[in-house]
Amino acid sequence: MDIADNIKELRSNVPDSVKIIAVSKTKPLEDIKTAYMCGIRDFGENKVQELVDKHDKLQDDIRWHLLGHLQRNKVKYIVGKVHLIHSLDSVRLLDEIEKQYSKRNLTADALIQINIGREEQKYGVLEENLPELIKAVEECSKVKIHGIMAIIPKGSEKENEIYFRQVFAIWNELKNKQYKNISMKVLSMGMTHDYKIAVKCGSNMIRIGEGIFGKRDYDI
Ligand SMILES: *Cc1c(COP(=O)(O)O)cnc(C)c1O
Repeated sequence: MDIADNIKELRSNVPDSVKIIAVSKTKPLEDIKTAYMCGIRDFGENKVQELVDKHDKLQDDIRWHLLGHLQRNKVKYIVGKVHLIHSLDSVRLLDEIEKQYSKRNLTADALIQINIGREEQKYGVLEENLPELIKAVEECSKVKIHGIMAIIPKGSEKENEIYFRQVFAIWNELKNKQYKNISMKVLSMGMTHDYKIAVKCGSNMIRIGEGIFGKRDYDI
């Protein structure tokens, strides 16, 4: 199947209310252009350098999503180039985003990444540390939080569903609170192999790499 067929099939599998992010990490500009021709405008990258390179070479109306861990010393490179940062995971990173966006008088839009499986090798805040991060966000003037992102542990469909439901519960609870600078419009969960379950569990933003562009040559 080619990129256009993959996108068509994906769209037939999810409601229109679910935003599809085409994860183009490691993939060439040609592939992005093909997806663009199919109407995709949201693209996800894992690395700052790769995102910035592609941003600078491609159409202005592409919305770039930063999905991977963001190092504090790289924040300055993404200001004005990223539509949504999915990986806010600490107060220290938040402070740097606030600082760099203030310098340029721009607003950063971000999701809080939750490490729902409590996996040591994964980034994201633990649930018990959410209140501290939320409190810090309320004190910002250049950062807006629009929702939650999660990458769940590998496992069976049953296990996937348990984790997705846990993330949904956290998101849903926050949704009913009135915090400054925080709304819960976006729930970013689900990738190629588990997006159908994620959508069933309430996801409204899925991040699809292989399922659109085919296998990656190397894993990032
Ligand atoms: C690579 C990546 C994806 C896409 O993964 P696929 O399995 O190729 O769909 C989604 N989200 C994040 C954070 C990623 O790093």
